[in-house]
Amino acid sequence: MKRKEFFDRFVFVRKCVGCGEILPYERTKEAFCSDCIVRWRMAKTENCAECLRVVTECTCAPKGLRGVRSLRKVFFYHSKKYREPQNKLLYFLKHHSNARASEFVARELAPALNEEIAACGFSEKKDEVFLINVPRGRRAKTRYGHDQSELVCRALAEVCQITYCGCLVRARRGTEQKKLTGAKRFGNVKGVFSLREGTELSGKCVVLLDDVVTTGASMLGCVKVLRAAGVSEILALCIAQD
Ligand SMILES: [Zn+2]
Ligand SMILES: [Zn+2]
Repeated sequence: MKRKEFFDRFVFVRKCVGCGEILPYERTKEAFCSDCIVRWRMAKTENCAECLRVVTECTCAPKGLRGVRSLRKVFFYHSKKYREPQNKLLYFLKHHSNARASEFVARELAPALNEEIAACGFSEKKDEVFLINVPRGRRAKTRYGHDQSELVCRALAEVCQITYCGCLVRARRGTEQKKLTGAKRFGNVKGVFSLREGTELSGKCVVLLDDVVTTGASMLGCVKVLRAAGVSEILALCIAQD
């Protein structure tokens, strides 16, 4: 047994993100155990109440989120399902900067992203496509030490061979979005996002990613900044839509 394998087998044991069960060595690249992966796949078969399509094919965006081509997602978020692996995964991503979990999510998001890039005619010019995350509030970033959307974005950039661009910045002010409801969220993000100086995105295609989209207020704040910078196409992507 090689040294690395010894450490992987007995020292750095990997646990299932959904239930905490220790994963067999052969599955150490995966996020879930075999039971949780079945439940995860089930969650991905839920149908959208609006378009009736299965969630992984649904393109519906919240009404307030204008200016994006579509909003693709992997599952619908239900707070009552807190015991289910999909909710555990969101929680895990938020609290741990773990490459195994973010790479797993990236692989799950990749098919929808590739479809959207093809649909808007950027398949042959992937060098003009940029992956950008909705930046996490600075307070949260300091508290947890990382930005989960950024980690997923970076992993997704690797999987889809697209450039990651961490060009959006969020000013340190305002209340955390999750503490506000509906219309207040839209007011709260006004002027909060800006583009790093020297960012050139005119005529480009941007894939904007956030972990969870509820009202779409944060995303819309970013969309406005990107449109003002001359971005021609914006594809929105999230792990879960609430
Ligand atoms: Zn499990
Ligand atoms: Zn839909």
